[in-house]
Parts: sequence; structure tokens; C-alpha cells
Amino acid sequence: MRFSDRMDTIPEYVGARLNRKIAEARGRGDDVISLGIGDPDLPPDPRLRERLAAEVQRDDAARYPTNHGEPALREAVATYYQHRFGVSLDPTTEVLPLLGAKEGLAHLAAAILDPGSCSLIADPGYPVYAGGPLMAGAASMPLPLLPENGFQPDLTAVSAEVAAQSRLLIVGYPNNPTGAIARPGLFGELGAFAQQHELVLCHDNAYADIVFDGEPAPSALADPSFRAHGIEILSLSKTYSIPGWRIAFAVGNPDVIAMLQRLKTQIDSGMFPALQRTATWLLGQTDVAGPPLAIYRARRDLACQQLQAIGVPVTPPAGGMYLWVPVPTDESSLAFADRVLEQAGVVVTPGNVYGAAGEGFVRMALTVPEDRLGEAITRIGAIL
Ligand SMILES: *Cc1c(COP(=O)(O)O)cnc(C)c1O
Repeated sequence: MRFSDRMDTIPEYVGARLNRKIAEARGRGDDVISLGIGDPDLPPDPRLRERLAAEVQRDDAARYPTNHGEPALREAVATYYQHRFGVSLDPTTEVLPLLGAKEGLAHLAAAILDPGSCSLIADPGYPVYAGGPLMAGAASMPLPLLPENGFQPDLTAVSAEVAAQSRLLIVGYPNNPTGAIARPGLFGELGAFAQQHELVLCHDNAYADIVFDGEPAPSALADPSFRAHGIEILSLSKTYSIPGWRIAFAVGNPDVIAMLQRLKTQIDSGMFPALQRTATWLLGQTDVAGPPLAIYRARRDLACQQLQAIGVPVTPPAGGMYLWVPVPTDESSLAFADRVLEQAGVVVTPGNVYGAAGEGFVRMALTVPEDRLGEAITRIGAIL
């Protein structure tokens, strides 16, 4: 058999690698605590499941959907954006359903990039920011998010040459993995940068509703200059603890939305109608339970306190579902993560999988109960 040369450039996905390592350790009989994958552990609001079950019963729920989505769904997204973010959207041209943010991010790169062009991506960042360009045969260049800059990109550090090759720029706040929230003015600066270099902006807003202290997170589209050049991707996975349902939306610049839609019509045939109707209902409610913020906050505080007690200087994140933890030994992120799994039976994600600037850190997901989180940190303390 012969496969695409492109496949040689695509690394094994971080989640797939972690799942394989967990299965190996459990196969040896280890009691593994996984702080690896950010998969909400608490069930969604029961009304969501009831609603979906009822929608599945309808005869037309088994028919083909369209990529554009049902008008009622696109209107519900537009109304939601108005209420939640103060952003008005045209439901016909500025809203597109996605089968998860991951799908949208990967295909966005394919719709925009050619071999020889590149995407500027947050580093550390969600792995698909780099995977999408690879599948398009294009390159990605890092926008390092460093602790000394509060994990914000420094656009003045992008060389003229790289800026000229770039067609796409992707960031996301509240940020996975660092937990930072966007500094005031960031989206406007990105808008000016996009205007100057003629590139498309994408803001990945997967954690819009997971902010622990202070103001709720904004939409990048609330900034007119960002909006003129870009889109935002809103995922319901983390907000409503429904990552398995695969519901997200691309919203914003109509030219970008149209191109993404055109590409998707060759790949998928749209979102399961029962999910579209459940999402339409959900976006119109004000009392469906969102993320379990109090629980995540209590886990964050407990884990930070315990890590500090074992000598690991971690900064409590402002948002998201993760701790971004400096490696407390002189090992690489990968060597430390491998040793933590082997000797402590705890899965942490090595920071380098999120990009070169993630070296020196590991990510711990706050998606396990407090007692297991505490146990995991006690075990890590014992092998330092
Ligand atoms: C979880 C996550 C996603 C994926 O969301 P889906 O809608 O479930 O595909 C996208 N971006 C970031 C930063 C994430 O952490």
C-alpha cells in the first residue's frame, strides 16, 4: 500500500497517544488517574438529554440535514450572540454549524491555506491549530505565549517575511492550555495586524463560559476590526458538558463562512437534525446548567494549594479547565510526564505537544473529583 506523503508529517494525535498509554498502564493493573484529556466528567443538565431523546423520535430526524443548518438554529445562534456578547450576526450569511470546533478548525485551514503559505498559531495551543495546516500541505509559525507576557501574543515579534506568507492567525481565550484570559485591546490589535497583512483571523472561544474570577469572557467579534477580518468558533462542548455531541458554530466574516461552508459540503452533510433542534432549544434557554464553575474552582484551588505544598510553583488559572504547571525537575516535559505515569500512575500532558513554547510545562485537567485530584498530586509529590 502507498499512503500520502502528507501523512508522514502528521504526528499521532496527543489524545490518541495518551489513551494508548493509559490502556497499557491499566493493562498492567495500575490504578491510573488521568489528568490528561480535558473531558468534562460531570453529566449535562438532564433536560438536555430529555430534549435530545424526544427530538430523536421525530420521523424527519433521520433525514439528511444540510451543511447550512436549519434557519431556526442559525437564528438561535444570532440571538444568543446578541444577548450573551452584544454582537449582532446575520443568521443567513454569518453563522455556520460545525460538527465540533475541532472539525471547523481543521477545515478552516484547508479552506484558506496552500502549500507555501502559513498560519500563525498560538503556541502553546490546541493541537489542531498545527494539524490543520499540515493536512493542507501548508506550514504553521508559532506565536509564542510566554508567562512573562501573561501568555499573550507579541505581534511585534513576527518578522515581515513570516507575516507576508501568513494567511491565517488563530488564538483562543480563555486559553487552553495556559488558563489565561485575553488582555484588553488584544482583539483590536489582531484586527489591525490582519488589516496590514491581509490575513484571516480566527478566535477559538471554546471556554467562553469558564472564567473563575472577574468579568465574563467577551467575543472577539465585539471588536469591529477583528470582526472585519475574521471569525470566531463557539463550541458547546465545554460550556454544557456535551463534548460527545459535537456541536459548535463558526460565526463572523461572511466570505470566510461561505468558503468554509463550500468546503464542508464536500466532506460532511451537516449536523444530525435532532442535535440541531436540541441546540436551537438550548440556546434559547437561560436556566440550563452551564459549566460546573464552583466545582472546577474548588478543584483548581485545592490542586494549586497541594502543588504549592509539594514545592511546585503553579499560578491559579483565570479560566479554562486546566492547570499549566512548570515541570519541577530538570527533566523535559515528556520525560517528566512519562515518569509520572510509570511511577505514580498519573497521566499529565507534556506541554511540548502544544508547541515548542509549551516545553517546561505539563497540563493537568481539572476534570476529576477532588479526592482523586488530591491523590494524584500526593503521588506526584512522592516521586519528586
Ligand atoms: C476542547 C477544545 C476544542 C474542541 O471543541 P469541540 O467543539 O469539542 O471540537 C477546541 N478548542 C479548544 C481550545 C479546546 O480546548
